[in-house]
Amino acid sequence: MNSFDYRRASTAEEAIGAVAANGTVLFAGGTTLLDLMKLNVLGPARLVDVNALPLAEIEIRDEGLRIGALARMSDVAVHPEVARNYPVIAEALLNSASPQIRNMASIGGNLMQRTRCNYYRDIAWPCNKRQPGSGCAAVDGENRQHAVLGVSESCIATHPSDLAVAFVALDAVVRVSSAKGERVIPLCDFHLLPGRTPHLETALAAEELIVAVDVPASPIAARSHYLKIRDRASYEFALVSVAAALLVESGTVHDCRLALGGVATKPWRVPAAEDALRGQPATRKSYEAAAEIAVLGAQPGERNAFKVELVKRAIVRALTHLGGSS
Ligand code: SF4
Repeated sequence: MNSFDYRRASTAEEAIGAVAANGTVLFAGGTTLLDLMKLNVLGPARLVDVNALPLAEIEIRDEGLRIGALARMSDVAVHPEVARNYPVIAEALLNSASPQIRNMASIGGNLMQRTRCNYYRDIAWPCNKRQPGSGCAAVDGENRQHAVLGVSESCIATHPSDLAVAFVALDAVVRVSSAKGERVIPLCDFHLLPGRTPHLETALAAEELIVAVDVPASPIAARSHYLKIRDRASYEFALVSVAAALLVESGTVHDCRLALGGVATKPWRVPAAEDALRGQPATRKSYEAAAEIAVLGAQPGERNAFKVELVKRAIVRALTHLGGSS
């Protein structure tokens, strides 16, 4: 691990001023950052601790839910209003990491967490995301955990966040602040496809600070569910996951939301599948048809073709859980 400077920011302005400097990284829970520093994957010259900033509130407002960037995963997961009105968020969080990590990890940090691709985390291997232009060891390597959607020749790593998948399904937006003021980034545009530049992972500019995530109020949010399939029952990343929401009226799908995790290079909303489901009878047959559409364009590698079938089944199960079937 390289030596580094450490300082605490007491205001947002101070943090924003500091992070604009080259080699400076903001530090909240540290649950990803410190691991990667110990592995010599990341080597920032300076950490700026933002934990003293007043950004940990969880607010229930008329227009929706506002979660401060420094709210801890565990606090959001057990918030009664979140569990009641946005169950997909609470369930995604409770299926993430371990209780100890959820107590430390922040919501902003969760969105910024790095891929779990083993080649990224081992500096002995080529990795375009860690070292641009070095190659991708996963394309012809051990790629059972990797993505089948949104992949490129340069990178096939999955995005690891469960929470981001739930946020994408509910049309959440990220509020960010800089010296120029505040702006809003839709969650679905926050994470970038790898293309030829997999080292560029988010739309966040170097001098910006995440201050909150807003989730709009909507009746469908209360009819939502997160289903995560993984190799073991806890403390494991998704093989596939589904964030779903469904409104059924008189046996017909009135509205729906579908987003996928564990299968794509970013949290993966599937609007074509949603469009296909609206107006259809709430039946297994309709769910299966939507699932087929959700995986169109999938490009599995040598060891992860099973994910295509697995995520289709997960979609059907999540929708059945919400809407029943006949
Ligand atoms: Fe690196 Fe992406 Fe290839 Fe993994 S999949 S080795 S993160 S370039």
